[in-house]
Amino acid sequence: MELVEESPYRFRIDPLGEMRVPGVVFAARSLLPDVRADRSLDQVANVATLRGIVEASYAMPDVHLGYGFPIGGVAATDVEAGGVVSPGGVGFDISCGVRLLVADLDRAALAPMLDRLMDGLDAAIPRGMTKGAVWKLSGRAQLDELLVGGSRYAVEQGHGVERDLARCEDYGAVSDADPGQVSDRAVQRGQGQVGSLGSGNHFLEVQAVDHIYDEAAADAFGLRAGQVCVMIHSGSRGMGHQICTDQLRVMERVMPRYDISVPDRQLACAPVSSPEGRAYLGAMAAAANYARANRQMLGQAARRVFERVTHRQLDLVYDISHNLAKIETHRVDGAERRLCVHRKGATRALPPGHPDLPADLAAAGQPVLIPGSMGTPSYVLTGVEGAPAFASTCHGAGRVRSRKQAAKAVHGRDLRHQLEAHDILVRGASWRGLAEEAPDAYKDISAVVESAEGGGLCRQVARLVPVGVVKG
Ligand code: 5GP
Ligand code: MN
Ligand code: MN
Repeated sequence: MELVEESPYRFRIDPLGEMRVPGVVFAARSLLPDVRADRSLDQVANVATLRGIVEASYAMPDVHLGYGFPIGGVAATDVEAGGVVSPGGVGFDISCGVRLLVADLDRAALAPMLDRLMDGLDAAIPRGMTKGAVWKLSGRAQLDELLVGGSRYAVEQGHGVERDLARCEDYGAVSDADPGQVSDRAVQRGQGQVGSLGSGNHFLEVQAVDHIYDEAAADAFGLRAGQVCVMIHSGSRGMGHQICTDQLRVMERVMPRYDISVPDRQLACAPVSSPEGRAYLGAMAAAANYARANRQMLGQAARRVFERVTHRQLDLVYDISHNLAKIETHRVDGAERRLCVHRKGATRALPPGHPDLPADLAAAGQPVLIPGSMGTPSYVLTGVEGAPAFASTCHGAGRVRSRKQAAKAVHGRDLRHQLEAHDILVRGASWRGLAEEAPDAYKDISAVVESAEGGGLCRQVARLVPVGVVKG
């Protein structure tokens, strides 16, 4: 595969074979996947063959191998031109994402209470393979309300404050969710998990603001140097996974009916406007609302512990997903077009002045929340005017080592000691899970974020460092 350097942070894969558009990778040369050892750029090229794709098949600097689509992939299809939607372009953990809350408290003031805070969080946050959730729903009827209402439903039920919703993507709920498309099996898996982290890569982390790059934007986001934050990373749990599995099966079956063939079965898809395409989007929206309610409830649990231990409140900075398909209008070749924008392991990054932003974020742009790892910084970014890739950027550092390789390289117990030697407290669910998420299983987050900014996708606002982590 040939990569053409367009600029220091932008490489092109010219169309070959069935590719309808080029591939474009936003990354410094040092971050490019090794094409001999890693198939993720082949996946970028495969996505470029999808019906209706416009502009390019994009890869963010944290790109790595995923199911069909790479993780760190962005692809938009033209709805009116028969463009397809593909569940593999969203992923199994539908609307997995990140929520950031801030306390009116400095790191130094927290220090004497930190152990107690971490013990409190350890006890209050359901996670790992064990059962348990913050919110016990009364049955399917209530679950259906949650699948339509997302975080908004949670707040209406007393779990949060109205201001939270202004700081949630889509004001807390995706519209057009269709609980009727959600199978009994998905309901069964989702019923008991609202307000639970899940496994390994998901976490709740106490962090401190370590550096501010953009004072004005940081101020609008409510961030200042030294301040304590809580970052939560979780998704739609068994519910999203089952919905993705169910819908993939449907799409694999109907592709011949629409005369669609794909270079990889994992790219199964259907036209956005077909009954199957619409059914997927309805089910996906339900899972997305589940994920948002899940993060709302995890945030509430963190708030209770914080108030009990530190007597301080936690305010929401933002909640944004990084696995989602959305119908959005963008200008392509000089014309406004309705597109189905797939972001998989990629984060929407609305620029300043975008009409979907609440008034107090209009001047700064949308907060973009980028976790690094439990041993390295995480970042807050913001969208920029005129950015490529349909206003999208990276979602994390991105893996370089598989879970298996990572677990082989270090024992969880040793890793915990290493982290504690750096004053990072750890409350894990299992040694194995901890080892799988070792910081060196991931790319260099600072280089990833620098590439994203260098590629014109976003701007850096603040750097956060880990203080204590509750791992799934
Ligand atoms: P994903 O959604 O792809 O599972 O993970 C998103 C990103 O979260 C990863 O690429 C990695 O950079 C980051 N990450 C994984 N575990 C942790 C953690 O414990 N703490 C922080 N801050 N980031 C993490
Ligand atoms: Mn996830
Ligand atoms: Mn995620």
